[in-house]
Amino acid sequence: MPKLKTDDAQLADRIDAILPQTQCGKCGYSGCRPYAAAIAGGEADINLCPPGGEEGIRELAELLGVGFKPFGEDVVLRPPSVAFIDENLCIGCTLCLQACPVDAISGASKQMHTIIAALCTGCELCVPPCPVDCIGMLPLPQETPSREKKRAAANAARERYRFRLERTERDKRERAERLAQKERAAAKPVAAPETDAQALIRAALERAREQAAAVKPRNTGQLTPAQQAQIEEIEARRARAHELARPGATPPEE
Ligand code: SF4
Ligand code: SF4
Ligand code: SF4
Repeated sequence: MPKLKTDDAQLADRIDAILPQTQCGKCGYSGCRPYAAAIAGGEADINLCPPGGEEGIRELAELLGVGFKPFGEDVVLRPPSVAFIDENLCIGCTLCLQACPVDAISGASKQMHTIIAALCTGCELCVPPCPVDCIGMLPLPQETPSREKKRAAANAARERYRFRLERTERDKRERAERLAQKERAAAKPVAAPETDAQALIRAALERAREQAAAVKPRNTGQLTPAQQAQIEEIEARRARAHELARPGATPPEE
């Protein structure tokens, strides 16, 4: 969503305050605030929110100082409703719980889920994900709540939605952090523990080094080729032993 100018952002807040906050997406936007921002930015019309009804369009027209615009012919208006779960069929998959934008479903994995009717906004977002089709919508009694009552319900739904977004973001960050930690731990080379044989070889090498440092040969300038070859062989053996004493080295097969 493009960043709004300060004036547009303030206007978007005022538009958002009128919208019903079901976050249902029926306006074609991902939630009420993005739709409000699109209206404020002059990109969307005021007649795209079915849950707000004609009264919602009138309020928007009043706020923006424009004329009323009816819903398009393709818009289906439904009476306010609340979700219910057929608890005999629920398999506890949690998909509805994950889809609900206002945390109006209670339940846990492999346990029966229940709608908290007082919190349900009737957005219907939990219906399609259910793999056993055990969620339905029940129409609410036809009463016309006052504007204040509707505002209060919308404000409460907005708060629940914000809380849910924050929680989801925090969970995502924590998951990413745990994964990064695991990857760092896996990348660290782990030194293989020294075997008894390697410890013996290392100790012998250290002793040999100490002895060699203490006794310096004096006749190295007059070596025969045979003596030279013997020295080279000893040096090679020492290098092999040194290599074997290195932590993580594979001991030769017996
Ligand atoms: S309630 Fe209205 S504005 Fe909010 S997401 Fe649904 S259709 Fe869009
Ligand atoms: S329970 Fe279903 S219909 Fe009710 S608010 Fe949650 S997702 Fe929407
Ligand atoms: S999506 Fe359906 S089956 Fe899965 S927990 Fe919700 S109600 Fe139960």
